Amino acid sequence: MQITDVRTIRIEVPLERSLGVSRGRALDARGAAFVVVETDAGITGVGEGVGPEPYIVERIVEEKYAPRLIGKNPLDIERHWAAMLTDDLYKDRKGQGVSAASGVDIALWDIAGKHHGVPVYRLLGGPVGGDLKPYASDLFWQAPEPMADRAASYVDRGFAGVKTHLGRGVDADKERVAAIRDAVGPETALMVDMNCGYDRPDARRAGRMLAEYDVYWYEEPLSPYDIEGLAALREELAVPIAAGENEYTKWGFQDLFEADAVDYAMPDVMRCGGITEATKICALAETYGTVVTPHCFTTGVGLAASMHVMAASPACEWLEFDVTDFPVYEALFETPPTLDDGRIAPPEDPGLGVSLDPDVIDEYRVD
Ligand SMILES: [Mg+2]
Repeated sequence: MQITDVRTIRIEVPLERSLGVSRGRALDARGAAFVVVETDAGITGVGEGVGPEPYIVERIVEEKYAPRLIGKNPLDIERHWAAMLTDDLYKDRKGQGVSAASGVDIALWDIAGKHHGVPVYRLLGGPVGGDLKPYASDLFWQAPEPMADRAASYVDRGFAGVKTHLGRGVDADKERVAAIRDAVGPETALMVDMNCGYDRPDARRAGRMLAEYDVYWYEEPLSPYDIEGLAALREELAVPIAAGENEYTKWGFQDLFEADAVDYAMPDVMRCGGITEATKICALAETYGTVVTPHCFTTGVGLAASMHVMAASPACEWLEFDVTDFPVYEALFETPPTLDDGRIAPPEDPGLGVSLDPDVIDEYRVD
């Protein structure tokens, strides 16, 4: 089997509801870059690289990586990973080169699964446990009451955990945490994501407040550049620290682990180096006794890739499940994921179990 083509499909989805996060920032549209790898065996693989800039991922995949891959056997995944990320004289160690390689890597795993006729998690040695436990990822910045109402609706749907996005001042955050905790009750895991919104003193103040509300994890309180600061917070605060969506490769995660910076490591499969690298980060996390909860706030392709990694690693807990009604999410699955008694089963179709249905994609496609 040989790779005959590597290309990208880029989309941009305008959002009906603006997604507000820390420091007054908000998302009004969400983009994505899919990677499509064709073979002479008639098998097509699909991946996704989260840039965050889809047009940069597109350029890197098509101009830098495609020429290195065409004509090669798509099943030689480790070799292709090295060809993209470690063989060059000058290394692209972090950033969008790794994101672009992640998208290619995911597409190659999709091809491998389809070639062998099994879901990707089987190729990775899974499943290690039962179905995955999702938490509802949403609760972007609004007034406390609508955030609390929305949180309660996710608990009613059967989610055992909900995540909110705060970071606009400790007092304003406190009002929202109090309202959400009141709405979801004491049994629901409540995660709080600050999206890197605070400096060290405010992160400390906010962390003490969150502990009063039994917050499950405190996500990205600080800039991802401040690993020492994260470690100091983890040492001082009662609330567990989560971070890693802005980190790349196993070497980047080794820095987090060596610094004792996180209780929950959050590699993004679409950024950290794909399924190949996420699996290794999970293994590394096991050696440090660190729980992995992959960051996943993207399309159905990324969700599927994350589910396969999680289903095959004993280090993983809590599937991040986007409940914002993103139109390119469940709709991309061959068999859409469903919440059953608070759990979601990993895809059973060969490969990732997703496809870029033109009826869904074309509406948002950017040429
Ligand atoms: Mg986050």
